[in-house]
Amino acid sequence: MKKFQDFEYTRPEYETVKTKITQFIQQFKTADSAEEQMEWIKAINAIRRSFQSMRQICSIRYDMDTADTFYETENDYFDEYGPLFQELINQYYACLVDSEFRAELEASLGKQLFNLAENEMKCFSPQIIEDLQRENALVTKHTRLISSAAILFDGEERNLAQLRAYFQSKDRAVRKAAYEAYASFFNDHEEEFDDIYDQLVKLRTKMANRLGFDSFVALGYLRLNRTDYNAQMVAGYRKQVLEEVVPLANTLLEKQRIRLGLEALKYYDEPIKFKTGNPQPKGTPEEIVNSGLKMYSELSRQTKEFFTFMEEHGLFDLLSRKGKMGGGYCTFIPTEKAPFIFANFNGTSDDIDVLTHEAGHAFQVYSSRNYEIPEYVWPTLEACEIHSMSMEFFTYPWMELFFKEDVLKHRFAHLSEALLFLPYGVSVDEFQHAVYENPEISPDERKKIWRDIERKYMPKRDYADNDFYEKGTMWMRQSHIFEVPFYYIDYTLAQVCAFQFYNKMEQNREKAWEDYQNLCNAGGSKPFLELLKIANIKNPFEPGAVRESVTKISKSIEEIDDSEF
Ligand SMILES: [Zn+2]
Repeated sequence: MKKFQDFEYTRPEYETVKTKITQFIQQFKTADSAEEQMEWIKAINAIRRSFQSMRQICSIRYDMDTADTFYETENDYFDEYGPLFQELINQYYACLVDSEFRAELEASLGKQLFNLAENEMKCFSPQIIEDLQRENALVTKHTRLISSAAILFDGEERNLAQLRAYFQSKDRAVRKAAYEAYASFFNDHEEEFDDIYDQLVKLRTKMANRLGFDSFVALGYLRLNRTDYNAQMVAGYRKQVLEEVVPLANTLLEKQRIRLGLEALKYYDEPIKFKTGNPQPKGTPEEIVNSGLKMYSELSRQTKEFFTFMEEHGLFDLLSRKGKMGGGYCTFIPTEKAPFIFANFNGTSDDIDVLTHEAGHAFQVYSSRNYEIPEYVWPTLEACEIHSMSMEFFTYPWMELFFKEDVLKHRFAHLSEALLFLPYGVSVDEFQHAVYENPEISPDERKKIWRDIERKYMPKRDYADNDFYEKGTMWMRQSHIFEVPFYYIDYTLAQVCAFQFYNKMEQNREKAWEDYQNLCNAGGSKPFLELLKIANIKNPFEPGAVRESVTKISKSIEEIDDSEF
């Protein structure tokens, strides 16, 4: 196989793709056996794989060099034709669910494909095309607003991501100032944020009503392909977090206050775990990558094969450089069966997260790369994060390679952050339910609701003299709330499942790895709760599951002597 730099790119012309897919759909409809229909499904999927691969190669190459005008133009092309392409897939889905051979197709292709296709149909009707376009435009407006931030701080204009780096400053005055500068951006644009969100909430509600739903909640769940759990189950799960995790979080924050020697722990103190600063990886980016290779070579036979594959085919772009797009992600190029990891190493522990978290995503997609059904390569989002968050735990024995003498500090910080994240994560979710269940309430009422939810799940949160945050605006920084409604509880569900992997690992590492590998192999071939069964993981919605998952984590944190840090 070739290296990424030699992967061929040619633009898939929409008209050609459309002609072919339309023709294959026609053949599918008139086929007189399940076997024959399977052949047309294969043909359609081959076109989809190739379209998707071109789109990914183009997008990665543009991100690698944003000055490249060729890929810039190509990228615009995909932005423009992406929705039209999606419409073709919807036509295919419509025939699939209506097939007279559906039972036979389900038996050989699996039920999940039909779940997903049916979902997609429920989320769409030609009646709402214009509203969907307006929704996209509003989301783009939000993205642009966020990326327009240029805040003068520490002698330079900085974007929001750059400003966030200062939140972890050892110097209290610096992190306070950074938070205030950050808040000032949202304060200056408060009306715009309120207006975009208000329009989005009303528009989404209108679409839901048109599609026959009472509110946007059910539609939001369907859009995320949640086929085997509902809002009521999620509410019960949030209650578990409230009862089991919030008290643990309060204790952790109190200990943090004592460790930092502060009279009161303010909101701007929360990210900093130790007086001496949060642990940073040691070594150059090149050394870090080499340690990653050693780590995955030793972790298991499968990870060794995976990481070597990534290395040999140039499927990483990790180092920062001028002209490269910011951020990090893991993606997949179907025709080459190749995962790709994109990152911007900056010398903080984020670099290690790339090697553990993003590599966890990449390892999963590598493990499920042979599925012929494109829908089965990645699972739904809550399941996706189990692979990445659990890999963060599976790699613990190698953290000394990166953090040297600070390895225990890292473990302490990592475990505490994971636990402290849960109350915040469920707050974001509860807020969105409140908003979409009452779409007519005013922006000010929304802020009040947010602040009340914070008081419930994060009772120790102290906004000090920051009146802007105190009135309930912290949610504005969480882009998911604007862009992908109801996508957030996923991270907390996955975290609880990853905790279970941590617990299993402590008991029997080999068995834990086997369960993990089985989960990765299953890709997206099953819905969330069925994937959990494959992994021998307890369903977090079950009463008592959250408690069982966090007990050991909390004990492991306690066992680390933090008085030395
Ligand atoms: Zn992730």
